[in-house]
Amino acid sequence: VYVSNKHRSCMLCKTNEKEYVGFATLPNQVHRKSVKKGFDFTLMVAGESGLGKSTLINSLFLTDLYKDRKLLNAEERISQTVEIIKHTVDIEEKGVKLKLTIIDTPGFGDAVNNTESWKAITDYIDQQFEQYFRDESGLNRKNIQDNRVHCCLYFIPPFGHGLRPVDVEFMKALQDKVNVVPLISKADCLTPAEMRKMKDRVREEIEKFGIKVYQFPDCDSDEDEEFKQQDRELKESTPFAVIGSNAIVEVKGQRVRGRLYPWGIVEVENQSHCDFVKLRNMLIRSHMHDLKDITCDVHYENYRAQCIQQMTRQVTMLFLNILINIIEKNTLPLTLSLIRCSVFTSKLTQDNRVESPIPILPLSTPDAETEKLIKMKDEEVSQLSCFI
Ligand code: GDP
Repeated sequence: VYVSNKHRSCMLCKTNEKEYVGFATLPNQVHRKSVKKGFDFTLMVAGESGLGKSTLINSLFLTDLYKDRKLLNAEERISQTVEIIKHTVDIEEKGVKLKLTIIDTPGFGDAVNNTESWKAITDYIDQQFEQYFRDESGLNRKNIQDNRVHCCLYFIPPFGHGLRPVDVEFMKALQDKVNVVPLISKADCLTPAEMRKMKDRVREEIEKFGIKVYQFPDCDSDEDEEFKQQDRELKESTPFAVIGSNAIVEVKGQRVRGRLYPWGIVEVENQSHCDFVKLRNMLIRSHMHDLKDITCDVHYENYRAQCIQQMTRQVTMLFLNILINIIEKNTLPLTLSLIRCSVFTSKLTQDNRVESPIPILPLSTPDAETEKLIKMKDEEVSQLSCFI
């Protein structure tokens, strides 16, 4: 929210007026504080190698994030597991600082057998949620480093006929953890008619397979007509067809980012050539905040609710066990009961999670053994209450 100097002095003049309390400057205070603090954004890119991910990222943020990248040969890629590589850059524009983190996922879809190749990616997202949950539940909550992934750009190859099974599986595996934005890469490989067909097909398949991709929020009814039109165009353009290039070429006397071919030039920022500008505007200018809000309010909240539910269950079990022990065998020292309880809980969790109340990874629904134990304890408690 920007308040011009003219407005500010106007506000100061009004301080003498009786009706003026001063809360109109609140947006201004928020603006100043936010600019001082700076912003951060974490973007993940996924898709098989060679689809133009690094070129697009460099084109989007006008940086060279991949200077030291080592490209693997085919033999190395066959057995390659999915690696997670984090690049961080601090960019500044007109005094506004943005800490941009790019999470690259080389190796995804490159192996001969790609079953569950998204596991490393989903685990990474969960680990960031887990870290945030720990920090948020800790004592020092002032300087929490937020590494949660706000958006995942998923690159679909332009060569096939719509989505491949691996694309469907990947997006489904990530849909409840992160905002997935599907992109059709290397859009210069398709004619406009082919691109329309490809987009229709991808849209249909997203619908058919029930894939939950990032949904742009609805426009407020009081927005002006131009904004509404832009919003409509943005929604109609999905999935965005993008072109990346690190080269600067000359078109009609102007230096632009583009790809030079023997038959002509493809301009990255020309809206009749591809949706690069729409994607950049969406990511940076219009929807960055919404992507962060959805991450925080929906994806992280789901994770947190799951954890709390699991923790509550563990604590209830522990409490019941203590109670039963005290009532049944009150001759035993309390310490013995407590020891038994912790052994019981560790049996339930089947790993070292008892060390901390916060699970290492989101816990799945209890297994059959846990359910059986809960049932058994429930019966014991109801018997006890009859007895009492
Ligand atoms: P990554 O492995 O997914 O990061 O892919 P790269 O960005 O390294 O690109 C692989 C190759 O595709 C390089 O030769 C790029 O120059 C080329 N490339 C990148 N973007 C595009 C594009 O939009 N169109 C075409 N035709 N080629 C591209």
